[in-house]
This record gives sequence, C-alpha cells and structure tokens, in this order.
Amino acid sequence: MLYDTGNIFAKILRGEIPCNKVYEDEFALAFHDINPQAPVHVLVIPKGAYVSMADFTADAPADLITGFFRAVGTVANQLGLVESGYRTLANAGADAHQEVPHLHIHIFGGKPLGPMLVKGH
Ligand code: AMP
Repeated sequence: MLYDTGNIFAKILRGEIPCNKVYEDEFALAFHDINPQAPVHVLVIPKGAYVSMADFTADAPADLITGFFRAVGTVANQLGLVESGYRTLANAGADAHQEVPHLHIHIFGGKPLGPMLVKGH
C-alpha cells in the first residue's frame, strides 16, 4: 500500500494540525487518542512514511525501528503503566479496521482491560 502523505497523522507530524503530545524524540511522537477507549489511550507513531508494521519493519532504517519501539516502552513507563499493566495494539489493513494509514501503536491502560478480543468476532 502506498503511503498517503495527506493522512491525519502525517499532518500532525508536519505540525499542520495539533495533538495532545505526551512524548517526542527524533524517532517517534506520542499523543493522546482523540476518542479514548480506556482511561489511558495514547498513540505512538514513527517519524517516517510507513503505513503499517509490514512496510515499517521491512523498509525503515534500523535506528528508526529501534528508536520507535524504545519510545513505546518509554511512553508506557512515563504514563505510569508498567506496574499496573497495559496493552499495546497496532491495527493493519481492512480486517483490523485500520482507520489511519500511518503506523501507530495504541497504548491502553488505567483499568483492567478484559479479554484481548471481543468474543464471537
Ligand atoms: P486505527 O483504527 O488503529 O487506525 O486507530 C486510529 C485512531 O486514531 C483512533 O483511535 C482515533 O480515535 C485516532 N485519531 C484519529 N484522529 C486523531 C487525531 N487528530 N488526534 C488523535 N487521535 C486521532
């Protein structure tokens, strides 16, 4: 899938629209989800034009891959979720209902999150 430079997270990375930032370094940006599904719901995105996990891990330079995943852990730590627990999730493509075609890892926490997937789906 070709990367769409007009997607909303690309606009956030370019500073064209605001976000509620929680963390930023040279590899990643993290911000609160606009429609939170848990008491804590933060998105972490890499600073690069990647749609999902497959193209990111195949095409991104090693320092970006390392830096991005390190940022996910740093953010979970900064949010105070490590002791209580948290869930990370990355939707890819139509079957996973990916809405924004820029790789993002959701971090959910702040309450017991229940089973991983809705039963029957
Ligand atoms: P996904 O279905 O995995 O692609 O998730 C996309 C997520 O992006 C959803 O949870 C949306 O609520 C969230 N989202 C969409 N637009 C924004 C925005 N401008 N700022 C923060 N989160 C957003």
